[in-house]
Amino acid sequence: MSNFWETRIEYLKGVGTQKADLLNKELKIIDYKSLIQYFPFRHEDRTKIYTINELTPDMPYVQLRGKVMQMEVIGEDAKKRLVGNFVDNEGNTMQLLWFQGVSWIMKTLKVETEYLVFGVPQFYNGRYSIVHPELELFTSAEEQTGFLQPIYNLTEKLKKRFITNKVLATFVRNLINIAYNHIEENLPNWIIQKYRFASRQNAIYQIHFPQSPEWLNHAKRRLKFEELFFIQLRLLKQNKVQKIQNAGLICEKLDLLTEFYAKYLPFELTNAQKRVCKEVHQDMTSGRQMNRLIQGDVGSGKTMVAFICMLMVVSNGSQACMVAPTEILAEQHYEGLKVFADKLGVTIDLLTGSTRQRDRRVMNERLMNGNLKILIGTHALFEDKVQFENLGLCVIDEQHRFGVQQRAKLWQKNPVLAPHILVMTATPIPRTLAMTLYGDLDVSVIDELPAGRKPIITAHRYESARLRVFEFMREELKKGRQIYIVYPLIEESEKLSYKNIMDGYESISRAFPEYFISMVHGQLSSVDKDFEMQRFKNMETQIMVATTVIEVGVNVPNASVMVIENAEKFGLSQLHQLRGRVGRGAEQSYCVLMTESKLSADARVRLETMERTNNGFEIADVDLSLRGAGDIAGTQQSGVIDLVIADLAKDAIILQEARKTADEILEKDTYLESEENLPIKNYITTYQKQASFWSRIS
Ligand code: ADP
Ligand code: MG
Repeated sequence: MSNFWETRIEYLKGVGTQKADLLNKELKIIDYKSLIQYFPFRHEDRTKIYTINELTPDMPYVQLRGKVMQMEVIGEDAKKRLVGNFVDNEGNTMQLLWFQGVSWIMKTLKVETEYLVFGVPQFYNGRYSIVHPELELFTSAEEQTGFLQPIYNLTEKLKKRFITNKVLATFVRNLINIAYNHIEENLPNWIIQKYRFASRQNAIYQIHFPQSPEWLNHAKRRLKFEELFFIQLRLLKQNKVQKIQNAGLICEKLDLLTEFYAKYLPFELTNAQKRVCKEVHQDMTSGRQMNRLIQGDVGSGKTMVAFICMLMVVSNGSQACMVAPTEILAEQHYEGLKVFADKLGVTIDLLTGSTRQRDRRVMNERLMNGNLKILIGTHALFEDKVQFENLGLCVIDEQHRFGVQQRAKLWQKNPVLAPHILVMTATPIPRTLAMTLYGDLDVSVIDELPAGRKPIITAHRYESARLRVFEFMREELKKGRQIYIVYPLIEESEKLSYKNIMDGYESISRAFPEYFISMVHGQLSSVDKDFEMQRFKNMETQIMVATTVIEVGVNVPNASVMVIENAEKFGLSQLHQLRGRVGRGAEQSYCVLMTESKLSADARVRLETMERTNNGFEIADVDLSLRGAGDIAGTQQSGVIDLVIADLAKDAIILQEARKTADEILEKDTYLESEENLPIKNYITTYQKQASFWSRIS
């Protein structure tokens, strides 16, 4: 059966080798399976034929009927284009334009002959035109084709070689004609009943050629569910199997933790911190390996939670390590935690790229013989040379900076008993995305900031207000506060970025001659970066001019103003991360978003969102709806799937249902052995290839 779907499309009626080749190259459509899964991204109602008179500037696409009276090539080189003068039945005219395939159009298009013209009308200089319209000879038979016509994503190259929507739709139709009986149901009957889903056969047919808008929705709902369901099933299964198969260190003794709570804990934990510590403790006493993600907004106090978890492990004679994405961060963690570790008599050390060879050797020895209990570090920690006597816990800070393979590397640092894994992220990932991305991890959320934090006041200012912003900065500096000024990285050019920040530095130096200024950017060595960061931290400098290198984690509580230059160039989550650098002390903090006066609609939404809220999860949701899941930080590294039909920004409810259902099924039947779940199991085994593609996600 499976062979049928692997039939190459060149064997499909009407396709042939040349077109097959093109479809391979342009759309990655290779076999029957990939063709049938090439769903249209929308449908057009081609029952309606407009007249030019009826057009309005906001129409997404229209269908017109009329004749091209004459054609003319105008312009030269890049501006060369073919202009067709199009007249409809009422005698109104508009232009049809081609920039490519000019000679072919000239050859094939018949003037003074009636056509149906499809396309996106553009309104320019008081006139309408359509660029690269689709044309079809008008026959009265066409008038009758009702229905919603599928519109596929096609490349210009395909269109130029005559593979239009119509042609692709014909291929799909030919395929469905012979494939219908090969489409097997992959959901158990009770799910179909419960959600009143369309059958798989019907859904696939209707997604391409819907009988009505209602049928289209019906089909979409089922196919979205199906897509998300199989992803969740896979991830949850992995999580469950991991739990069954991988034993974990049992941490029942809590001596060090008790001592720490009684004597040294510098503040009362927030309820959210307490809850998360409890969740971790449950994992660590379950006898199973923990794989947990902690999501907590910037400043929610994840470091302390991590330390507490490390103490749980060390209390039981094991070792713990913590990996941070940058040296500055690793050092900061190390210095912060060493104070407590020393008091408790727990050995702790720091390993980074700049640790000297000699020190490393000693450190490795102490790790191997168990004398060193806690190791904080950067990537250097992943190296194979770094081995432990008995590693019980790995904490990974700012998870989105690390790849999945690296997580796996840490597992291997204890060949006897896989260490517990705690992943922490401050990139607020919308829940829906977290479920898909980290479905194999259990998730804890620190959704509360320590008491007494004043929300950061955020304001958007145009360049024209520059002097007043400087005045405001001066007032804050006079109060003894420190200020960050951040410049964007200009992607196309490191040189431009550099010039940008240098110009900024100069104008700041001129405006604030009485203050000391630090500067940190990508072209500095990490030693120099650290040096400047340290000076700022020690209050030797009052202003920090920087690129986004300061984005993650650094903690300077006295810095209370964050000025972001060219704020329109930053993504939302990045703006939020940067803003999180202030608001860490007792003082009222401010964030000023500087922009030019010309802004795109998206940029406006980003700036308004920043002004409106400090809540990372709310911001993440807006971010997701603006950018789509593929662009959200972290998804690249994690190799998150390109979803075929579901949309994580919009289909949260379906995702939740899919996850719940998958969980219910696995709870009863982890290995999918029951009769009832046979359709699922068959589907998964038939599509083993898909399964290996899934395994990239986790
Ligand atoms: P993040 O979650 O962004 O990593 P940190 O762990 O750096 O946050 O904590 C931010 C600041 O809040 C630190 O200075 C830390 O000491 C402080 N902090 C953490 N938990 C609490 C708490 N429960 N009460 C008061 N301050 C806290
Ligand atoms: Mg942190």
